[in-house]
Amino acid sequence: MRECDECGSSNVSAVSIEGMAIWQCGLCDAIAGDDAAVARVLLIREAQERGIHVAAYPLVVALDRIEGFKVVACGAGDPEQISWPFVQMSLSGPSALVGLENLTKSLALSAHEGGVHWVVEVEIQTRMLFTLKPRFHRDMKRISSQEVLAVRKDLERLGANLERDMALSWWRG
Ligand SMILES: [Zn+2]
Repeated sequence: MRECDECGSSNVSAVSIEGMAIWQCGLCDAIAGDDAAVARVLLIREAQERGIHVAAYPLVVALDRIEGFKVVACGAGDPEQISWPFVQMSLSGPSALVGLENLTKSLALSAHEGGVHWVVEVEIQTRMLFTLKPRFHRDMKRISSQEVLAVRKDLERLGANLERDMALSWWRG
């Protein structure tokens, strides 16, 4: 009989998350099993706690870490309503402009990988807002659900690239 590593309860059951099997404790909710599966479940839980779609979550976390950046809204897109994934930010302080330059450089570098073409749009509402969104040279009516899902998938690539670039020497702090 398997026991929970955290609380010792034997109320442990096998659950499947996105096709990966892990063990979950019925008493304390602790999970165990394959490292990648456990990491994925923890990421999903963390995203849910913040009310953010898991596909957008790593990117939102990375953007929030840029000095002067604050994520104010985000979405992972809606394949039925045909709306795009996006992350909207407010910027403050002198370092934010350097962060914006770093971000656009990261986007330009990752554009060569052949994913979605991402841009940062600036608009004024009650304050200046910066929206990271995909650029398509087509009418929304001519865009399919599959394309929305492909853009949603690209959020993960973008987040991973940003995370990588933020650790590189050219990224100015
Ligand atoms: Zn437990």
